[in-house]
Amino acid sequence: MTATAAPAARFLVLGTTDDVTTCDDCGRTGLTHTVRLGVVDLTTGEVDGEVYFGSVCGARAAGRTVKGFREEARAADRAAREAERAARHAAMAAQAAEWATLDGTADCQRPPSACRRSGIGCVRHG
Ligand SMILES: [Zn+2]
Ligand SMILES: [Zn+2]
Repeated sequence: MTATAAPAARFLVLGTTDDVTTCDDCGRTGLTHTVRLGVVDLTTGEVDGEVYFGSVCGARAAGRTVKGFREEARAADRAAREAERAARHAAMAAQAAEWATLDGTADCQRPPSACRRSGIGCVRHG
């Protein structure tokens, strides 16, 4: 964070959305998408609410070039997708680990054929 980036501290670029197509700044409607900006309360440093700005208004508000602003919004989108995927994988791994503890019990979640083939003497699948 440098001194010249001071205005940027007020807004956090959270990513793009096409759910909102009206710029909260200038009121222009019919945009292909807007950029979600977290409003940072400079006193507490906490994000306090969100606004939806078009690229041009958003870039001005955040003190960036339009090009840099768009890139930042796209990077935020990618990071959000990445985090979502990681969370999904973690949930799937947790589920698999939970199911693994049930192998061979009356609540066995393995495919019946797998149990029969491995001959573990599954209570549920035989
Ligand atoms: Zn605008
Ligand atoms: Zn089984």
